[in-house]
Amino acid sequence: MELADLYRDVILDHNRSPRNFRRLQSPTNTAQGFNPLCGDKLTVYLVMDGDRVDDIAFEGSGCAISVASSSLMTEAVRGKTEAEARTLFERMHALLAGETGEAEALGKLAALGGVRQFPSRVKCASLAWHALIAALDGAQQPAKTE
Ligand code: ZN
Repeated sequence: MELADLYRDVILDHNRSPRNFRRLQSPTNTAQGFNPLCGDKLTVYLVMDGDRVDDIAFEGSGCAISVASSSLMTEAVRGKTEAEARTLFERMHALLAGETGEAEALGKLAALGGVRQFPSRVKCASLAWHALIAALDGAQQPAKTE
């Protein structure tokens, strides 16, 4: 199996069966994300236990890339410390900017790196991550991809 096929399968799978796709009843942190270019709209919910992400979920609607990216993000961030979550965001940012050196450290998340060939879809892939950071920052305003 080609690596590109494997990556496509990861995205299709997470779009078809998004992980952690639900609303959390008592989140400690939450943020919305909106990508006007595509119409992707999502809300990220976090339950922080001190410095650690005890639970994370999302809901919303959007294209396959944005849903798969949100699903992969929640899976990757659950159980991590805030600092580790922010490091993952930086790595994703670098990957989407074309820094291929990050792919190995990202594991399954590297599947999203393929979208950099389609510049208009990069914001679909980064939306959930911007919302995550906004939630960690305790932002009151929706995260934008601009
Ligand atoms: Zn999109």
